[in-house]
Amino acid sequence: MVTISIGYEETDAIQLTRVDSNFFEGQNPYPAPPCQREWRNQLLPFFFDKQPEQPLLMLKEGKALIGVDLVSAAFYLLSGWQEYFSEERDQHGRYPYIASVQYRYGFVTVPVVNYYFDILKTAVEHVTGQPLRPLRWAGGAAWAAFITHDIDNLYSAWKAPAKAALRQGKLLRFGRQLWQHFTHKDAWNNLAQVQQTVAEYGAKSTFFFLPKNRPDANGTPNSDYALALILPQIKALADAGAEIQLHGSIGTATDTDQLMREAAMRMLPYRNEQSSMPGIRFHYLSWEPRATPALLDDLAFEYDTTLGFPEHFGFRNSYCLPFYLFDFQRGRAHDFLEIPLNVMDATLYHPNYLRLRPDEILPALVPMFKEIERFGGVCTVLWHNENFDPANEHNGPQQFRAIMEYLRAHSVYFVNSLDICVSVS
Ligand SMILES: [Zn+2]
Repeated sequence: MVTISIGYEETDAIQLTRVDSNFFEGQNPYPAPPCQREWRNQLLPFFFDKQPEQPLLMLKEGKALIGVDLVSAAFYLLSGWQEYFSEERDQHGRYPYIASVQYRYGFVTVPVVNYYFDILKTAVEHVTGQPLRPLRWAGGAAWAAFITHDIDNLYSAWKAPAKAALRQGKLLRFGRQLWQHFTHKDAWNNLAQVQQTVAEYGAKSTFFFLPKNRPDANGTPNSDYALALILPQIKALADAGAEIQLHGSIGTATDTDQLMREAAMRMLPYRNEQSSMPGIRFHYLSWEPRATPALLDDLAFEYDTTLGFPEHFGFRNSYCLPFYLFDFQRGRAHDFLEIPLNVMDATLYHPNYLRLRPDEILPALVPMFKEIERFGGVCTVLWHNENFDPANEHNGPQQFRAIMEYLRAHSVYFVNSLDICVSVS
């Protein structure tokens, strides 16, 4: 084992260029605009780059000089500094994508921090004279995919077409929809089918269930089902090897008592061996950077997988591997693992988000997939059960299958969170 020093001093084997700024002593959410530099034929933004005329990496005998303060730049993005110190929130209390540096400088689909670490890796390899082997997933796979489903609705597929029929005055069609509703299984009541579809690709599903049925005080809907009434269905999924986790309802991201009540659901008998790592994703991707991480530590969650921008696929913390978020209150890492969310079905086709044509979806995602593959990361996909309804031709089962086929064809290793937590620890 070789020990090498990375720092700002002449005596450090890997010497970073110190940026004379007290940025991290202040509370400004945004540093000076990044400089653009090229690394391995890729133009990348570099924050804390005060001497752009200096080469990015200079290799000397037994020493490497890095022309940028890479540690500060990586910390800034990975810690989520911008959302912690920004006051901006959307109507659901979330930090908006359009406020982010990823949006402003156009790098949401590039895991910039992985590139920063690649520069450091090159420097370490030069100084030690030894190659650093990348992490490999089971079976030697270069990268992994985590396939997840938030279960918001089981019984509401009939509502939109019935309402449309009523609005158009087509009473016969409306009557047929109602008849269908009362006599047939709803198209969204499809959990076993979701699991089977995913299993066809050799993948495992992780389901997140919402314990709260009533809408929140502002009228934002929670689930359309009562958790207590679907326990047999959940047990069947668990018995077939699915992972069962908590989908925190509206409000739980900032309310300890409410989250504690819902977290107690962990004790329900449907939890299985696969779910021994208590994890969570918040409904509506709710997340308050100043409160939520501390709640997750307090309630001893092993992991969260909420952190993606609802408005755009990509990398909210500019990193494509699971990581520990920085705890701004205690000045150390949080205890729970963050498994970043990369692509959600609703992002791809939604009045408030993107409106991709069905044939645009896969081509739009492929560059991001290639980045994750390049760095041996985890690609987290969220596809709601309601979007396995064949009636959905925008972001429905066909678009999901196209993604799964791409992942399988590129030799991804399909993981659940237990696999991830074991690999990382
Ligand atoms: Zn949800």
